[in-house]
Amino acid sequence: NKTTYRNFPMVPKVVFGPGCFSQLGDILLPMRKSSEAPFIFLVDDFFENKDFAARVPLMLNDEIIFISAEEEPKTEQVDALVTQIREKYDEMPSGVIGIGGGTLLDLAKAVAILLNNKGSAKDYQGWDLVHRPSIYHVGVPTISGTGAEVSRTTVLLGPDKKLGINSDYTTYDQVLLDPDLAKTVPKEQWFYTGMDCFIHCVESLTGTYLNAFSQSYGEKAMELCKEVFLGDISESDSREKLMMASWHGGMSIAYSQVGVAHAMSYGLSYLLGVKHGLGNCLVFQHLGEFYPEGVAIFDQMIQKHGIALPQGICADLTQNDFDVMINVSLGLEALWENALGKDWKKIMTPARLQALYQKI
Ligand code: NAD
Ligand code: ZN
Repeated sequence: NKTTYRNFPMVPKVVFGPGCFSQLGDILLPMRKSSEAPFIFLVDDFFENKDFAARVPLMLNDEIIFISAEEEPKTEQVDALVTQIREKYDEMPSGVIGIGGGTLLDLAKAVAILLNNKGSAKDYQGWDLVHRPSIYHVGVPTISGTGAEVSRTTVLLGPDKKLGINSDYTTYDQVLLDPDLAKTVPKEQWFYTGMDCFIHCVESLTGTYLNAFSQSYGEKAMELCKEVFLGDISESDSREKLMMASWHGGMSIAYSQVGVAHAMSYGLSYLLGVKHGLGNCLVFQHLGEFYPEGVAIFDQMIQKHGIALPQGICADLTQNDFDVMINVSLGLEALWENALGKDWKKIMTPARLQALYQKI
């Protein structure tokens, strides 16, 4: 009985450096299929009416679509964008460029897949259900932490589940890492999304799925997170390091899994729409029994940056609400198995999980 190892794609091209966004036009030029095949830029609407929007290298019939990151991406939103693009252009676009945080990066990946695959985004939520390549897609993160720029998943809220489209075609063809784009990120959001990366590291490094591949990336990301959130470094240094921490954190979970915080945060997000970074923090503060070292470091980081997490999020929930969250959360079997081992069901009972949610 020989073990078979997964064969994962990686982002084949990446450019890194402050100001490198100005090279995007040159990077796209050779990828243009014809004068009728536009590039579609999906851009976080924070940038609408800002100088930055004027720096997007539009040519011919290229289009910018500004999208709000207020809510996490939904399967219907992906379907609507795909329909809109198909109806407007005779030719398949030359590519899709996602510019923003995890929300926009995930949306752009999903749109690139669905433009070349039939049906609806919800049909592809799961593992390896995509059978035709996506169209060329480029990711440009403007806030660091999720690792969505390197991962082979795009997490979508569907009609009956929050689940990624995990496939070899999800991964970006090109990523552009310009730390300067993150200059405008508000402090709290910087912290929440940065903690997503920190929590990826903790969950990967303490998980039962850990292997040398994941560990090598996880340890580097952890070291960078400590420098960024506990060290004494310049702002520009910090932006560069957090961008690379996000990258390594994403690589670390590619070959392992996340754990308790993500499993619980998905439940919160599904029921209450709590956003990923904040949801992870709300949960993680109470996970000292599972991640003693990680939670101790997290407490130091929260204190150092004077972050006050919202309280009483689960105070008014009904038993039915808890049941919904618990079902979504316990459905993420791989995450629990990674965190607690093969016998996880004996360790994390619905009652114990509810008691954890009640602390939030
Ligand atoms: P986000 O994309 O939702 O953005 C958070 C906020 O920051 C938004 O209000 C946005 O407008 C703002 N923002 C972004 N860049 C900014 C900038 N430069 N200046 C000022 N404001 C800016 O947040 P996120 O935490 O990056 O992403 C969360 C999403 O990522 C969730 O949908 C989650 O499911 C997904 N995610 C995906 C993966 C993956 O591997 N695909 C991994 C983790 C999380
Ligand atoms: Zn995450």
